This record gives sequence, structure tokens and C-alpha cells, in this order.
Amino acid sequence: MNMPKTEPRAGWRIAPGVPESLENVPGHAAVAGIARFRLFDGFFPPGEISHCAVHVVSERFTPSDGWRYTHPHVHDCGEVNFILSDSGVLRFRYEVDGSTRIVESPSTVFLPAGTTHRMEAIGGTGLFLCMHLRERTPR
Ligand SMILES: [Zn+2]
Repeated sequence: MNMPKTEPRAGWRIAPGVPESLENVPGHAAVAGIARFRLFDGFFPPGEISHCAVHVVSERFTPSDGWRYTHPHVHDCGEVNFILSDSGVLRFRYEVDGSTRIVESPSTVFLPAGTTHRMEAIGGTGLFLCMHLRERTPR
């Protein structure tokens, strides 16, 4: 029986989350009630997940009908979002390549490389986790 070839394993690592202002993130804007933490950048080998951040949507966030905290943007890599809540439902509105959908927790969203997207928290509290699937170049 052929066993799959096992790559050498690196030691386990921990990347503590680093608070960062949404206004310094391309395609985003700071709003009250959403805190962002960069979980890692360059933590995995090249070609793997390159970036991960979490946005904490608290009860201090006041939803609106507008698009306040992200602006349309594109990545040259896939993006995965996890929308999670332990206190009811967290709701996001997505606009992806011109079409709009409502997404509720618990959900996973995959945005292929090259899609123009933005999202907005529109109700509830919880966590919005964002991962970029390989090296990224913001446009
Ligand atoms: Zn994005």
C-alpha cells in the first residue's frame, strides 16, 4: 500500500491577534461597534492561506441601509468569510459583482479571485472572519 508522502512538519506556532483600525485596511472604513483584529499575515507557507482577520460586531454597532464599512474591492486571491454568532443571528449584506444577497450566521462565503465585493453588517452581533487564500496584492 502506498502511503501519501508526508511533508516535514514545522513546529506549531501561535499568532496572537493584533488590533488594527479598519480605516487603515484597503476597501474598509472605521465605524463604531466593529473592532478588527489581524489574526495572521504570512503565517503559513507561500501558496497557503496568506491572511486572516476577524471583525467583532458588537451591540454598539448601529446597522444602516447604506454601505459604510467596506467599499467595492477586488483581490487577486480567493477570500473566505465565516459569519458566526453565539447570541442569535448575525446578518451581513453582500454585493458581489453587482448582485446583492443577505447572509446569516452560521455561514461560510467564498469569493473567487477577481470578484468585486463589499459587505455590510446589517443586524445582530458576532464574528466576521476573513481569510485570503494565498499571496495577495490589493488593487
Ligand atoms: Zn475582500
